[in-house]
Amino acid sequence: MSGGPALPPDLAIREDVPLAPFTTLELGGRARLFLDATDGDSVWRAVRWADEMGVPLAVLGGGSNVVVADEGFDGLVIRVGIRGMAITTRDEHHAHLTSAAGEPFDALVSHAVAEGLGGLECMSGIPGLVGATPVQNVGAYGQEVAETIESVRVIDRATASTYTIPATGCGFAYRDSRFKREPGRFVVLAVVFRLPRHGGPCVRHEQVARALAAAERRDLATVREAVLSLRREKSMVLDPSDPNRRSVGSFFMNPLVTKDAAARVASRALELDLVRSEDEMPRFLGGPGMVKLSAAWLIEHAGVSRGLRQGNVGVSTRHVLALVHHGGGSAAELLALAAYVQRRVSDTFGVTLTPEPARIGHCV
Ligand SMILES: Cc1cc2nc3c(=O)[nH]c(=O)nc-3n(C[C@H](O)[C@H](O)[C@H](O)COP(=O)(O)OP(=O)(O)OC[C@H]3O[C@@H](n4cnc5c(N)ncnc54)[C@H](O)[C@@H]3O)c2cc1C
Repeated sequence: MSGGPALPPDLAIREDVPLAPFTTLELGGRARLFLDATDGDSVWRAVRWADEMGVPLAVLGGGSNVVVADEGFDGLVIRVGIRGMAITTRDEHHAHLTSAAGEPFDALVSHAVAEGLGGLECMSGIPGLVGATPVQNVGAYGQEVAETIESVRVIDRATASTYTIPATGCGFAYRDSRFKREPGRFVVLAVVFRLPRHGGPCVRHEQVARALAAAERRDLATVREAVLSLRREKSMVLDPSDPNRRSVGSFFMNPLVTKDAAARVASRALELDLVRSEDEMPRFLGGPGMVKLSAAWLIEHAGVSRGLRQGNVGVSTRHVLALVHHGGGSAAELLALAAYVQRRVSDTFGVTLTPEPARIGHCV
């Protein structure tokens, strides 16, 4: 490596590696250094080496929730690919399912469903690896991992140590956690889920309930199939033949606002003739005193349509929340489109949309 510290001989660190193929957006530049780490010891030694040498560090899982800068990353990217999952304990009511960070999350969900364990079935089909799930408290169709994570095993770069954080210490909130609020501090090595052994599947979401209305059975496997089929209709599963496939799923989070702010947005929608009554605007309980608005509804009613195209990027033809790379584009183009969508929503409703994906490198 020119101009940097000598690489540790016992780690297979590669130089000048394109990152786009490791992301679902297939965008972005190269990593100065890259390690595909398949065991915990390699992750630990690579993290310690980077920190001791002052080399900037970024952690990658399945790359399904990141935007990599076109200029790439001038440091070490560690792809945490540690595999292995097992049911570690079972009592009368629950089982503990322990997974290394590098297991595909959907393989874990599928395993849980096959074992008759509840709590994950509505999150079927979410791309990415288990290690990233606590970071943004992954969720879908009325379930989120915060409900079933018991603990998370981490490397803490601030104290150069490895330990287990119980769920109560993870600071989980809607698409948020301590891991996200203290970016760069923790590397997740493994996650323990505590899953109910008996009881029916979770059917909290009206779309899942509707899909199940005609089903003969209402078990975990039926819910998984219903969710997968709903997700396929919206291009929300990874499918190499889908023209909307290069995305990070939803690009924006649903805004959490106070009740008063939600009332102002609804009255603005009425003023603009976008609804016939204020009740028409979708809103959901968002915790004490807070209301969750639908980012998709706001975007569509701000005049951004599915299928909108700006150069090599655009809005998915199947889901207005997903921004899509059509090939041959750049991260800058995608972020310009994201800024355009944010501006339309802000100008129309006075609401700021927060992007969901993390950034690697200096994105402009
Ligand atoms: C088609 C599609 C549909 C999606 N649907 C959903 C959905 O329904 N719900 C939802 O919540 N998300 C959804 N997503 C987003 C994404 O799949 C999830 O956020 C997923 O958990 C990201 O996992 P990943 O391994 O790809 O993480 P990456 O994209 O690689 O990383 C995401 C962030 O986590 C950090 N990270 C990754 N691994 C580790 C680790 N081991 N230790 C510490 N930090 C780590 C990274 O540094 C980065 O900040 C979707 C994405 C796509 C492409």
